[in-house]
Amino acid sequence: MNTHADIVIIGSGMAGYMLAQNIRQIESSKSITVVTQNDGRFYPKPMLSTALYHKKSPDHIVTATAQEMMDKYNIHVMTNAPVTEVDFAQKKVQLPNQSLAYDQLVFATGSKSNKIPKVKDVEGLLSVNSIEDYETLLDQLPHAQEILIIGSGLVGIEFSHDLLTAGHRVSMVSQTEEALWGLVPKAIGLKCRDHLIDMGLEWITDAGVRDVQRQDKKLSVHFSEQPTKQYDLVLSAIGIAPNTDLAKQSGLNTKRGIITDTYGRCRAKDVFALGDCAEIYGLNLTYVAPIKQQAQAIAKTLTGTKTPIHYPAMPVVVKMPTFPLTLVPVREPKITGQWEIQDNADDSGMIAAFYDEKKLKGFALAGTATRQRNDWLAKMPGSIVSEDQSAP
Ligand SMILES: Cc1cc2nc3c(=O)[nH]c(=O)nc-3n(C[C@H](O)[C@H](O)[C@H](O)COP(=O)(O)OP(=O)(O)OC[C@H]3O[C@@H](n4cnc5c(N)ncnc54)[C@H](O)[C@@H]3O)c2cc1C
Repeated sequence: MNTHADIVIIGSGMAGYMLAQNIRQIESSKSITVVTQNDGRFYPKPMLSTALYHKKSPDHIVTATAQEMMDKYNIHVMTNAPVTEVDFAQKKVQLPNQSLAYDQLVFATGSKSNKIPKVKDVEGLLSVNSIEDYETLLDQLPHAQEILIIGSGLVGIEFSHDLLTAGHRVSMVSQTEEALWGLVPKAIGLKCRDHLIDMGLEWITDAGVRDVQRQDKKLSVHFSEQPTKQYDLVLSAIGIAPNTDLAKQSGLNTKRGIITDTYGRCRAKDVFALGDCAEIYGLNLTYVAPIKQQAQAIAKTLTGTKTPIHYPAMPVVVKMPTFPLTLVPVREPKITGQWEIQDNADDSGMIAAFYDEKKLKGFALAGTATRQRNDWLAKMPGSIVSEDQSAP
């Protein structure tokens, strides 16, 4: 039984495993243990919302089992092992049946799906933020003709596209008239909504779902303004929150996420955080590109070369193959400025740029305009972090 590792990483999501991979690219002698409360399968989570379109089963999405990760990277992975407590003074993490000592510890505890306020859990009301959640969805899909998706953000939009292409009848309830509120300007959000409506989506604008109740085989959904309707399955996609429970309970500094300095270091000595659970430069960025930047820098710092985390402009692709969208969302803690729709010689696409006092802070490219991604990236500043954010 392992009782000590030089580096202990809590979490086997993309953040935890990418960090282990980056450390191994630098050096091979430090012992690394990844502790995870699930079965430690490695998979690209973004594929979950396009798997039906690409006809990929969970087995095709998973790229390695825990055992394969151990063999490939010479690491140890402890599965089905939730960390219940951390003792920073003793440098130990507590698991159900043993404790594990560390020299350096990394929190990569990810995120949790938000719950709809005041709505109780019922069978058939799901959210997808892991491959286990996705498997539950797949189990229920054969019996689900009428599906409601709650929320018109990135994940809701991608799942509606995927489920429509798989032949389901899909409705979406949105608190805004347009899709992707806060990520793209209204004109592009409306274009995205209309594209999905053309594919067969029933769009419902409503102030919010008030209740979901199981009645025999159906789910009754009570809206704020619209009449109650019945569905076979309801997918809640109203966002995620960083999983900071263990960090808070152990005494780390948290705000939205676990607060770190520019090196990914937390308040306790030799403790780091990255991925969906972390708040770095005041930003909690829940995408893959920031995780890559964090993993590269933290791996160097952990192995003796202090390296600040660098955030260049990091594009996000909204994965709807029939209506592609590429965006660089505005990443400031306090957003000022506005979207401007740009002239576009190619009239089948759409381009919007976000300017704050003439400085380009973000952009959104829709349809054929996504081909201009590199040209727009070149116009962005080298770092999205302003000087006052990077001050220690
Ligand atoms: C459907 C979907 C589509 C997405 N599409 C995109 C996209 O197109 N582009 C993009 O950039 N991003 C996308 N994202 C976001 C991206 O996938 C996430 O930012 C990323 O996967 C987060 O990885 P993580 O390792 O930080 O967190 P997680 O994947 O949540 O991993 C957290 C890990 O911590 C473990 N854990 C938590 N608490 C404990 C504990 N106490 N003890 C032990 N283990 C613990 C969990 O078991 C898990 O292994 C998408 C997300 C979803 C859900």
